[in-house]
Amino acid sequence: MKRAAIYPGSFDPVTNGHLDIIERARHLFDEIIVAVSENPSKRPYFSLPERLRFLHQAVGARPGVRVEAFSGLLTDYVKKKKAVAVIRGLRAVSDFEYEFQMALMNRRQNNRFETVFLMPDEKYTYLSSSLVREVSRLGGRVRGLVPTGVEKALQQRAQDHA
Ligand code: ADP
Repeated sequence: MKRAAIYPGSFDPVTNGHLDIIERARHLFDEIIVAVSENPSKRPYFSLPERLRFLHQAVGARPGVRVEAFSGLLTDYVKKKKAVAVIRGLRAVSDFEYEFQMALMNRRQNNRFETVFLMPDEKYTYLSSSLVREVSRLGGRVRGLVPTGVEKALQQRAQDHA
């Protein structure tokens, strides 16, 4: 039986840090389902179809990687997909407390899967979607930090709002 893992997140937008984690996870599981949360309460910068498109362009062709939208409880989604694990990235100690809380809460809901934390290459440890949005909104350079399609979309968005 195929061992699938879910990599959930807002991906607003996807960064090279996310891609690094997907690549590492790909070597551990047969299938990685990148699950993009709708998250209307977070008022995302990019719409769900845009975030899905960026991910499709970046990883859609990689064997064993699937990109999907999801809403509702992550634990229900994991059950529906018959996944054995949830992947999360850990950058610094600052990520730890929230991630630990979430992982244990998820375990309370459904004890049948594990949360697996992966560390990105150290060059991505300072990288976050929110920082990328902020820098690009102010006219800064994000080349090398995000896929090219995302870089273009961020530039366009910054110009539109200038
Ligand atoms: P969320 O809103 O669920 O935190 P994100 O898209 O911000 O969604 O992040 C999804 C996951 O990817 C989280 O586990 C986060 O810690 C991880 N992540 C984000 N940026 C990086 C990065 N640069 N390196 C490694 N992991 C990262």
